[in-house]
Amino acid sequence: MSDRRSPGGLSDVRSHLDAHGLSPNKHFGQNFLTDEGILTQIVDAAEISDADTVLEIGPGTGALTRRLAEKAGRLVAVEIDRGLAALLSEEFAEEPRVEILCADILKTDLYRLFSGELSAARSSGRPSAAVKVVANLPYYITTPILLSLLPETDLFSRFVVMMQREVADRMQASPGSKDYGALTLAVQYYADPRIVTLVPPSAFYPQPDVTSAVLLLERPDTPPVAIDDPDRMFALIRAAFGKRRKTLTNAIAGAPQLGISPEAVKKALAEAGLDPAVRGETLSLADFATLTALL
Ligand code: SAM
Repeated sequence: MSDRRSPGGLSDVRSHLDAHGLSPNKHFGQNFLTDEGILTQIVDAAEISDADTVLEIGPGTGALTRRLAEKAGRLVAVEIDRGLAALLSEEFAEEPRVEILCADILKTDLYRLFSGELSAARSSGRPSAAVKVVANLPYYITTPILLSLLPETDLFSRFVVMMQREVADRMQASPGSKDYGALTLAVQYYADPRIVTLVPPSAFYPQPDVTSAVLLLERPDTPPVAIDDPDRMFALIRAAFGKRRKTLTNAIAGAPQLGISPEAVKKALAEAGLDPAVRGETLSLADFATLTALL
């Protein structure tokens, strides 16, 4: 590694940025972790061995990157900020196992990036490519990132991701609770979410306005529900939660893109043994899977 004088990414993050004429950029959601204990908890939850490839989203000043680089067989870190990406590229220039990409994670072709891991997994008959995603996410795009990565079950095996606590609560909510919604069901279809730890604003520089949470998302051994057409189920779920105050019948029948009549919804609800006046927010993933099959 060319430059080990870079900060551990901890209390000296600020002087590191100053020394390179950089400052945290709000537009990119830059709140850098400065708490050693939280970094340890993230890395431990990821259970990384040298057989693993790790994708880090938004390495920033590299506090987490350095920890991951010690354990992973291959580490790819995708950073949108050119100044930070350049600093990290320099620091890891002599580490062949670490690649720093200056790119937008939402525009990165991940199948191409991990084509080697994919073919290795396929030829060995393993169900997933053993790429782990570990990140202190940019909060302004937490949901789009996870909704685009979670469905890639053949590519990503496990996620340990820091996000706003409120979003983590929504991801692990139960039916009927105030946090339960389309995001809950989308996440829980693809993974089992568990909060590893809550993280106060004081663990970051600069401090965010909100409490954060480290969320572990593990793939279930078997899919939580059997469904032929997940896209259709998610269209139904979006319609059900789009109009929260409507009954499920009115919400689904009122979504023209679905082309389902109120009579058809009522018939399906009766067949599923559900109350005709039920609202979407009380239905489980299994209920939505049953309704999708019936509709
Ligand atoms: N990992 C660092 C840490 O824990 O201190 C930084 C985390 S900070 C919350 C989020 C990082 O994501 C920033 O470095 C930011 O520049 C980067 N970022 C923001 N939007 C991005 C995008 N679309 N693609 C890749 N990185 C992005």
